[in-house]
Amino acid sequence: MDMPIKCRCGQVSGALEDVSPAVVNRLVCYCHDCQAFAHFLDQEDTVLDEHGGTEIVQMAPSRLRIDHGMDKIACMRLSEKGIYRWYASCCNTPLGNTGDFGMPFVGVIHSFLAEDGDIQKNAAFGKIRGAVHGRFARRDYDPGSMPLSLIARFLGVILKGKFSGEQQRAIFFDASTRSPRVAPTVLDAEENEALMARVTAAA
Ligand SMILES: [Zn+2]
Ligand SMILES: [Zn+2]
Repeated sequence: MDMPIKCRCGQVSGALEDVSPAVVNRLVCYCHDCQAFAHFLDQEDTVLDEHGGTEIVQMAPSRLRIDHGMDKIACMRLSEKGIYRWYASCCNTPLGNTGDFGMPFVGVIHSFLAEDGDIQKNAAFGKIRGAVHGRFARRDYDPGSMPLSLIARFLGVILKGKFSGEQQRAIFFDASTRSPRVAPTVLDAEENEALMARVTAAA
């Protein structure tokens, strides 16, 4: 099935094509970096769950289609070595995370789903398979350790993509330079520290 995606204000929109529980990996990440990304966009109240978790659906980049608002897609990194965190600059909606050009996966953040209800998500992606970086969850909440099946499924998406020659798509990267299509905002050490202080204060 196709799942419609759009930023909160609607200027960036498209679809996740032909998704099913077999080809995606739905999880919740509690790491401080994902929390910091939400704070960076001042979206911690809309993106993070009560324990600081970010719901993410990992899939091959080729499943992501943007129909409108390519010019509104922006990127940030929490440090020089951080993963690429994409968002809609029109309304600060987090869209997803990627690695480098050669890493064939995208982690779509739930805030980018046009229908963020559990009924739709369970049908399209299956139930949440587990938590990662659970030790960073807020308020003594213990979501449990990362199930091995989650790692296996993630590697499955990557290996399948590598095998079929899949790379990042033009939505985020320029294939000729293998670089992000838009220059990411990269936080310096001081900015990173200030953001992490907000994460810690919210915990
Ligand atoms: Zn928007
Ligand atoms: Zn994370």
